[in-house]
Amino acid sequence: MSPGSDSPTLAPVESDGLPIDFTRPGVIWLDELPVPIEPTGTGKAVARLREGRLVVGGGSRTQVLAAIDRWYRREARKRIEPLVVIEGERLGLEAKKVRIGNQRTRWGSCSTSGTVSFNWRLVIGRPEALHYVVVHELIHLRHHNHSRAFWDALAEAFPDFKREATWLRSNERELLKWKPRI
Ligand SMILES: [Zn+2]
Repeated sequence: MSPGSDSPTLAPVESDGLPIDFTRPGVIWLDELPVPIEPTGTGKAVARLREGRLVVGGGSRTQVLAAIDRWYRREARKRIEPLVVIEGERLGLEAKKVRIGNQRTRWGSCSTSGTVSFNWRLVIGRPEALHYVVVHELIHLRHHNHSRAFWDALAEAFPDFKREATWLRSNERELLKWKPRI
């Protein structure tokens, strides 16, 4: 699905608003919650979640930002891969491969060869929205379009889909451009 252009058949639904303060310095966001960044100022440029803080090695700001970026991708894969398997089994749909990327304008996509791709930025926001995108792309394994049949199958597989699609649409501009302020 591509934000903005996707789901033309959806009626507007009231948004939940966004609890994320994208201007807040010194934190990353995970599941809509702030996690303080703790730079060590030295060592290898690796980020690790430790006792509610993101401890990040590396000497320069560039290294720290790169380490956070890599951490987000790992974190996204850790959450998305099992969900693709669990929901795939539930729906009888098998993805051949899971890709995690940082597509500038997309939350997810599905290729005809069975690769499902997801934007790591989904882990910044609502876990339910991430869940929705996973189900949306899995349904595309069967319906490679946004036909009526696609939306019917999606509604059956994920009844709350309008709420999550609306949340993503309302917040995608900020979610897609956000960078940690450090
Ligand atoms: Zn789609």
